[in-house]
Amino acid sequence: MELVNRRQFLKTGSAAAAALPFAADVLASQSAFTRPSSKMIAIQIGAVSFADEGIEQCLDILQERGAVNALMPAVYSNSRGTAGRHKPYPGHGKNVEDTSIKGGNYATVHPSFYKGVSIDPLATQATDHPGFDVLRDLIPHTRKRDMKVIGLFQNSFDEKLPGAEKMLSYDFNGQRTDALCFNNPYHRQFLTGLVDDFVNSYDIDGLIYVNETQGAFTDMIGGRFRGRERGLPGSRTCFCQYCIDKGKSQGIRVERLKGAFQEAEKFVAAGRSHQRPVDGFYVSFWRLLLRNPELLQWEHLYHESYREVYRLMYDHVKAANKNCQFGLHIWTNTSMNPIYRAEQDFAELSRCADFLKLALYNNCGGPRMASYIQSIGETVYGDLPREQVAQFHYRVLNYPNEAPYPGVSEAGLSADYVGREIKRALDGRGPNGARILAGIDVDIPLSDLDIVEGAQMAKAARTTRQRVREATAEALRAGADGIVISRKYSEMKLDNLSGIGDAVRAVS
Ligand SMILES: [Zn+2]
Repeated sequence: MELVNRRQFLKTGSAAAAALPFAADVLASQSAFTRPSSKMIAIQIGAVSFADEGIEQCLDILQERGAVNALMPAVYSNSRGTAGRHKPYPGHGKNVEDTSIKGGNYATVHPSFYKGVSIDPLATQATDHPGFDVLRDLIPHTRKRDMKVIGLFQNSFDEKLPGAEKMLSYDFNGQRTDALCFNNPYHRQFLTGLVDDFVNSYDIDGLIYVNETQGAFTDMIGGRFRGRERGLPGSRTCFCQYCIDKGKSQGIRVERLKGAFQEAEKFVAAGRSHQRPVDGFYVSFWRLLLRNPELLQWEHLYHESYREVYRLMYDHVKAANKNCQFGLHIWTNTSMNPIYRAEQDFAELSRCADFLKLALYNNCGGPRMASYIQSIGETVYGDLPREQVAQFHYRVLNYPNEAPYPGVSEAGLSADYVGREIKRALDGRGPNGARILAGIDVDIPLSDLDIVEGAQMAKAARTTRQRVREATAEALRAGADGIVISRKYSEMKLDNLSGIGDAVRAVS
C-alpha cells in the first residue's frame, strides 16, 4: 500500500521525480556503468585486504586480473563473510584466521547522524584496523584510477552492545533472538543514521545493502539452504510488539499467530523425523495453510516491512545526494525457493533501488541447491523422492539444464542458469527498472552444512578459472548491466579472479 502511494507521489511530485532511478540527471552521472569497460565490473572487498596487502597493490591486481572498475568495500559488517578472512587461504594476504574480528563500521562513525538510536553509535566503530578508514583512505586512490566506490553494508549487529536488546527480534515463544527487526524504530533509525553518515561524510558513488533473511513461515518449513537452523523452527522471527501492533493495524488476527505457528512447528517436526502424516505431507501442508491463513499473512508482512526499510534508506540516500546510487543484494535463496522468489518482484524492488545485485553463485550454488532440496524434501515435499523434488524445482524455476540430485552438489549450477536469471530479471524489472548486476561466485567457501547425504565435501563443486569465465560471459551476453565479483577478495584465488578479466575482455 505504502509503495503504491509513493509511486503515485513520484508520478506527480516534481521534487521527488528527480529521485527516480534513471531520471535524466541521474543517468548522466552513471559513468561507473559505462567506463572503462562498457559495464560496471565491481568487487566486494573487506578492509582487511587493504590492511594486509596495501591499497595500491590490491587495486593493481583487481584492475589487471578482474578488469575491475568499481569497488564495494564492506563499510559496515559484523560478518567474516564480507569483512574478514578465513580458511581456505587463497595464496595472497595474511594466512591468519581472524577469529577475533570485531566488525562494525569500517569508516569513521560521526555520532551526530544517529538520532533516536538505542546504542552509543561510537560503540559500533570497528577497531580491527586502528587508524584505517576504509572510505577516507581508499577514495583518493580510486579517484586517480577512475574507479567508483560503492559502500557495502549488511544486516548484522553485535547483539552484545548495551542498548542492542531494544533492536532485536522475538520468536513466537516470546524469546529474544540475535536477529534485528525491520519494524523496530531503533533499528530503522540506526540504518538511516548509517546511510546519512556514509553519504554526507564521504564522496561515495553509491551504497549496497545486504539482507539475507526471510519470514518466519518459509524459514520454519526449511525453505532455505544449509541446515543449522532447521532444527529450531520455534526460534523464527519476528513476533515483537512492533510487529504485532503493525499486524493488528492491518487486520491480521494476531491472537491466532502463536497457535498457527505451533501447528506449523508440529508439521515440521513430523517431517524432520520422517513421520508421514495420515494424509501425507503435501495435503497436510495445504490443510495447515487453509486453517491458518495468518501464516502467509505474517510472511508477507515481513517482506513488506523490509521493503519499506529499503525505500526509507533509498529516500535518505537521495535526500543527501541525488546522484548517489542505492542498490540491493538479492539473496541466493531467490535461485532456489519459489516462495522467496515470489516475494522478490524485481519491478517492485526497482522502486526501492537503482540497482539489484543478484547472487548467482553457480559453484557453491550446486551444494546449496542440493541442501535446499534436502530440506524442503523433508517438509512440504516429504512424499516425493528427492530427485523428483529437484526436477519439480528446476521446472518451476526454469532451469532445464541442471544436474540431478544429489549430483548437482558436485556439478554445481551451470553458466546457463546465470544467463537465464539475468534474462528473467531484465524482463521482470519493468519499465525504468533497476539496473541488474550479476553476483559472480569466486571461491565462496562451503560449509559441512551444505553437503547432503550421498555427496562429499571433497568432490563438491569448486570455482575454476574456466567456470568463472563462463558464468561471467553468460551474464554479460544475457545483457547484465554489470557484475559484482563475490563474496570478497580475501577468499579469492588470483588465477580464478583472472577468469573475470578473461570474460570481460572477450565479451566487451
Ligand atoms: Zn519485530
